[in-house]
Amino acid sequence: MTFLGTGGSVPNKFRNLPSVLVRRGPELLLFDCGEGTQRQFLYARAGINRKMRILISHMHGDHVFGLPGMLHSLSLMGRTRELEIIGPKGVIGLVTSVNRVVRLYNRYPIRVREVKPGQVVKDEEYAIHVAAAQHGIPCLAYSFQENPKPGRFDTAQARKLGVPEGPLWKVLQSGKPVKIGKRRVIPRLVLGHPRRGVKLTYAVDTRPCSSVIKLAAGSDLLIHDSCFAESAASKAREYGHSTASEAARVAKRSKSRLLALFHISAMYEDASPLLTEARRVFHRTILPRDMETVSVVA
Ligand SMILES: [Zn+2]
Ligand SMILES: [Zn+2]
Repeated sequence: MTFLGTGGSVPNKFRNLPSVLVRRGPELLLFDCGEGTQRQFLYARAGINRKMRILISHMHGDHVFGLPGMLHSLSLMGRTRELEIIGPKGVIGLVTSVNRVVRLYNRYPIRVREVKPGQVVKDEEYAIHVAAAQHGIPCLAYSFQENPKPGRFDTAQARKLGVPEGPLWKVLQSGKPVKIGKRRVIPRLVLGHPRRGVKLTYAVDTRPCSSVIKLAAGSDLLIHDSCFAESAASKAREYGHSTASEAARVAKRSKSRLLALFHISAMYEDASPLLTEARRVFHRTILPRDMETVSVVA
């Protein structure tokens, strides 16, 4: 995944507005679309015509003003495939009104869905769970979770059981039994325990809250609002954001494996004090720069 923009509210010289790109095989997920995202997206060379979903957390400008430009650029660059946009109430109105007034995009279909906390968006190999963040206006946190993967295939054991290498191995790997003469070989005999998939949680523009802790439980990576240092804790409370150490406490309580500090206020040219503060609470914390790429494995 690539952090396209890691700042919040207004951009500065170092940080663009929030957007996180997840590449999963040939598929793309984009969390939020702050202004300027299309440029970062093109730099990231993510591909124009892939299966793609954009997930919007809430209807504050710094998270959605990049959407018209993004949709427009994708069309000009030759996208023909359907694009899905998921977000809270208001996202349909935004896309349709921009399209009505500016007539941006007519080369590919756009499907927009409004979702609520508690909903689950299911795909073949993963699910995206939606929960409420705590931010003054309705704000959604998302957790992307891959389905468990089949266990490792024991080739020696398959041979021992008389299953010849070839298409029958594939059948067993897909979880179906095969017949060898009159004998049936069931997958359990040649497959290890199912392996859990990756879990990635995106919770920005939020106070630390129990619904996010619950959503994030056991995440391989938690991307959490970390707008301010502890010295500006009152600002965080006032504007519905979190300090770095509050984000770290959420990571700790949700038993996440790695925390990425995100949505850094433009007032910090050097945000390293935020990292120091967070690491005092939760050591496995990173402070990604714009365009930094991180591999997430289960
Ligand atoms: Zn924001
Ligand atoms: Zn906001």
